[in-house]
Amino acid sequence: MNRPKVKTEVSEALVSKNPICFEELKTQCTFCGAKFKVVYMFQSENNTERVYYCPECSEEYSVQAAAPIVENAVELISLRMDGRSTLLHSER
Ligand SMILES: [Zn+2]
Repeated sequence: MNRPKVKTEVSEALVSKNPICFEELKTQCTFCGAKFKVVYMFQSENNTERVYYCPECSEEYSVQAAAPIVENAVELISLRMDGRSTLLHSER
């Protein structure tokens, strides 16, 4: 019986020193009360502070991550609870 060869040796060796993993962070916005999650790349080294924004009110948050957080990595879980519909920055 022939077993298919799996080409994982090289890539595993390359990332073994500083593996990248995906982390999921659930947050409740302190400004509007919306719940959302953000998925970001995290390494044991080379993380820097990356910003992401509440999808409802644009409140700014940050997390230590290995790569910039793209817009579609932020996913709304439940709507805002403050009864307003304005963005944070347009109120100031
Ligand atoms: Zn918010």
